[in-house]
Parts: sequence; structure tokens; C-alpha cells
Amino acid sequence: MKYFILAESYKKLDATTKRLEMIDILIQLFQSTPKNDFRKMLYLSSGKIGADYLELELGFADKTVIKAIAKVTGRSESSVTDIFRKKGDLGEVIEILKEETGQQGLGAFLQIEEKVEGTLELDEVWDTLHKIARTEGKGSTTKKTNYLIGLLAKASTLEAKYITRTVLSQLRLGVKDLTLIEALARTYGDGKDAREEIEYAYNVTSDIGEIGNVLVHQGIEGIRNIGVKVGVPIRMMAAQRMATAEEILEKLGGECALEFKYDGERVQAHISKEKISLFSRNLNEITKMFPDVVKALEKSLTIKEAIIEGEITAWDPEGEKFKPFQTLMSRKRKHDIEGAIEKIPVKVFMFDILYLNNESVLKLSYPERRKLLEEIITENEIIVPSSREIVSSVSDFERYFETAIESGCEGIMAKDIRKDTTYQAGNRGFLWIKHKFDYTTAFADSYDFVVVGGFYGKGRRKGTLGTLLMAALNSEEDRFETVCKLGSGFTDEDLAKITEELMEMKVDQKPKDVYSKLQADVWVPPIKVYEVQGADLSTSPVHTCAMDEIKEGTGIAIRFPRFIRYRDDKGPDFATTTSEVISAYKRQRLMKE
Ligand code: ATP
Repeated sequence: MKYFILAESYKKLDATTKRLEMIDILIQLFQSTPKNDFRKMLYLSSGKIGADYLELELGFADKTVIKAIAKVTGRSESSVTDIFRKKGDLGEVIEILKEETGQQGLGAFLQIEEKVEGTLELDEVWDTLHKIARTEGKGSTTKKTNYLIGLLAKASTLEAKYITRTVLSQLRLGVKDLTLIEALARTYGDGKDAREEIEYAYNVTSDIGEIGNVLVHQGIEGIRNIGVKVGVPIRMMAAQRMATAEEILEKLGGECALEFKYDGERVQAHISKEKISLFSRNLNEITKMFPDVVKALEKSLTIKEAIIEGEITAWDPEGEKFKPFQTLMSRKRKHDIEGAIEKIPVKVFMFDILYLNNESVLKLSYPERRKLLEEIITENEIIVPSSREIVSSVSDFERYFETAIESGCEGIMAKDIRKDTTYQAGNRGFLWIKHKFDYTTAFADSYDFVVVGGFYGKGRRKGTLGTLLMAALNSEEDRFETVCKLGSGFTDEDLAKITEELMEMKVDQKPKDVYSKLQADVWVPPIKVYEVQGADLSTSPVHTCAMDEIKEGTGIAIRFPRFIRYRDDKGPDFATTTSEVISAYKRQRLMKE
């Protein structure tokens, strides 16, 4: 297959923001892809070169790519940099320069003719990108740059644009995995059931390429046979939020299990005879950062194979109490792991099991899974089952909640214990409900919004981004919808750090998957998640979150938002959703009535 077919489709995808049009373009691309190229095509179309959890980093900085572009187009690095400053997208820069100059640079030297159609095979692009990802050690930057120069020199204008964006991890087609799933279901399935089956398989494998590969070779039947594998992370189940004990008990049928909500990092531990691997909420492998947890798991478990979940917290063994979430994050940044283990010990509170000795237990009810979990864990100084109590009255609920807060937890998790309480991979449903206490606005919960842009500061904040444009994730529309301008709760250091980070990510236009009526001074791709607290919610004609849902022509905004903390442990796919904002708004309206 020619890479050009992909590049042409990307051009069409670039030109639309309409989801249905995107799906049609993808369907055409799928239909022109040979079966054996399907996996590669799917990864590349989602801007990757493999499953997320494999950590195949291309790792190019702007500076290196500028060097490569200069070489290929016969320009000086400074003139490439100048155009980049104006355009903000190196993909566009190489497109402009290749168009202007034809092959005057290395391309001319190699006597490669500029062709509109392109000559690159998908395999060649794929293999070179993989070589780049595998190149490490001394002199690796030069080697990687040379691989890239080779590719760009052979590429047509359009191909060069998308290869450049790919190596910078900025393909930005606005195509998320859920859109790919929808297009796959329409091409290879027969309606809604197929989509659900494909989505389920995706949630247990976290691997869009594998799903596509199975679909084209074995059809939907093959998808039904995809199961859980130790070593392959499962997309994690998430919780809804509710404000009162009464509401929660009613929602869960009058009786539920309560557990402490530990304030740390979610971990999915994959245990096999050969090794133990730990994955974070974002499906990154974090095994190397927690050798103490791996050892403690080896001691704690007697079984051969399992996948279990828990929360890693920073722990003060002398005071026998929790340390803040930030302390745990600081441990993750340390290079001296042995020193970090000593300075910042951890405890892991285990709360679920997804797989045991050759069998997925996802379909068991929560009480059955919890029983299995307790059977296989022997408590030690690091591994502990989460605290738990079954309650059926508001007073018991509130007493347990107070105990959790007194113990230094951020709240509790209420879990449904009825029959049909399977583990819902990749889903945020009401089988788990979180209930947090906040000292400033009693019982109000915070939100995890994605920063999509910024406005320059005035006065003391001149030179930094003084206000950030924050957005919620609309998972049905696959886009980010603005919900507030965030300008307080930061220290000056926070703002300086945020400005530096965001200016590095800056793009010249509003990203396609951002829906905004406001024009920010600076736009950034929706990647970074910050925790935000607001006084309350109101309807707003300027913000686009839940536009037209409550009232024609208005969205919902968070009033008086305050920055709480960075959520580096969370990707944008796990941000607070538009539907959560709508429920919070409706709940607030009910409480005011
Ligand atoms: P928050 O931002 O409120 O910490 P979150 O958005 O990270 O939550 P949610 O799905 O909303 O994630 O809440 C569940 C999270 O709470 C889990 O991902 C996990 O990290 C954490 N947690 C702590 N204790 C428990 C527990 N006993 N059971 C399940 N999750 C728990």
C-alpha cells in the first residue's frame, strides 16, 4: 500500500470538523487498505506507531525536525525557524517549502523526482518510524535525524507534511479511538451491537491496531473471542459523582459497599509466573518506578497469574498516616529510585481483581470479585486490601465517611453490590460513585478539565498566561467544550511553569477537536489536565459545554473557578465529561429549589 493513500485521507480529515464526514472518510480509507496493512494503517491514523502501553516514543523535538527540513529543502535552519514562528506547525512548513522549492535540497542531490502521487510504501514509513523509536544511546539524535531526512527526501509534499506531524506526535486529525471504532463498526459490523462488541474488545485490549487486525481477518466473530491477557492493560473502570448519602443509597438500591477513597495513583498490576508489570491510569508502564511494590506483591500473592487493581499512596510509616498526592508525584520524578523508595515509602490499597489463573473475572459481580481478591492477598507492609464496610442507612454511611476523612482520605467510594455489577472496562458508570469532602465548599466536588488555550496576563502577570481556557470532554461528540476561564488559585511559580509548558505546545490555530466561541491569545492541543474547583455552575452564552442542552443558545460554565492541582496522572480521555457537568448543574438546580 502506498503511504500516499493515507496522506490523501488525512488531508480530507483535516478539512472537516464534522464527525459523520470523518467517519465516511475513514470508511473509504479502510476499504482501500489491504488486510495485511490494516494494523499499521490504524495506528498511523491515530498518530501512533503501536499500542499506547508499549511506549514507542518517536521523541523528536522541534529543533531536530527543523534541521531535517532545512537539509531536505536546501534552506538555512534560521529561515525554516522563521517560517515556523509564523505558522506554528512544522508540517505546514515543510509543505510550503517543498512546494516552493521542489527538490532543491537533498532530494535533488539524491535525484529523487518530486511526484504529486508519492512513491513511499506504507511499509517503508512504518519500518523507518520503528527504527527511529528503537534508536537509543550515544549519537542517537543524529541517527534518528538521518532516518527522518531519508524519509522526507523521498516523500511527496503531502506525505512530508503528515510524516513531520507524526514524528512530532502532532498528527492532530481530530480522530480519536472512539471515532475509529465507530467507523470500524460501520464497515465490518451490522449496527449498534457490533459497535458495542468492538468497544468492549478495545476496552480489554487497549489496542486499536489489534482490534482492526482481528476484524479484517476474522470479522466480528474474531472480536468476540478477544479476551483479557496478562501483560496487556485493561482500560480502567471509572466512577460517577454524587453529593449526598441519601442520593447514593437510593441509586444503589438501599445498600452498598463503602470503601475509603485513597488519594494517590491508580495502579493495575499484571502478575504472571515470569514477571509483574504495573500500569497507570493512562496505561503507561510504571513498573520501574515502583520496585518496592513489585517485591511486596511477590511476597503477598501465592497465585500464578492475576490482574489486580489498587491505589498507590505515599505513606508515612512513623506517623502511620498518608502523605499528600503531590509527594507521590514527586517520587515518580526522581531518577534515584532506591533513594526515592527510602525517602517516600508507599502503601498500595487493593480494591479489585480482573483476572485470576487463566480466567477473566470481569463478568463476576463486585462482591464475588472482592471475595476472590481477599482470598489471594496476604497483607504486608505495602500491600493491603482497601478498607470496606456494607451500609444500608444514611447514619452508617455518614459515620463511615467521617472515619475516611479523619484517616486522611479524600472521601469514599460507594460501590454497587447487586448481582449485575461486572467490571465495566473503560466506562464511567454509576456502579461506582465517589463522594468527596472539600473543606472550602462543603460537599462540592472538583472537576478535571483540559486546558485548551490561554490569555496573556496584565499588570503583575504580564509576560505570563494570566488566564487559561478550560474545557470538558464531550465523549459523544469526541471534542472538548469550553467551561470556564481559569485565573485564580495559582502561585506565581505555577503560572510561570504553566506558561513555559503551554508556550512550548502552542499551535497556530484552534485545535479541531476544541469547540469554543472565545478566541484565545494562545491555543494548545487538548492534552494537559488540571483539577479545578468552582463555586457553582451557571448557564452561559459564551461557553460551549452542553450548548443548547439546558437552554437554546447557552452552555454551562463553572463560576469562580480556582486551580487546585496538576493532574499529570490523567490524560484528556479521563477528563470530566460534558454529561457530568450537566448532571452537576441539574443536581444544583434541584438543591436550590
Ligand atoms: P478523582 O479525580 O476524584 O481522584 P478520578 O477522576 O481520578 O477521581 P474516578 O474514576 O472519578 O477517577 O474516581 C475513581 C478513582 O479513585 C480511581 O481511579 C482510583 O484512582 C481512586 N480510588 C481511590 N480509592 C479507591 C477505591 N477504594 N476504589 C476505587 N477507586 C479508588
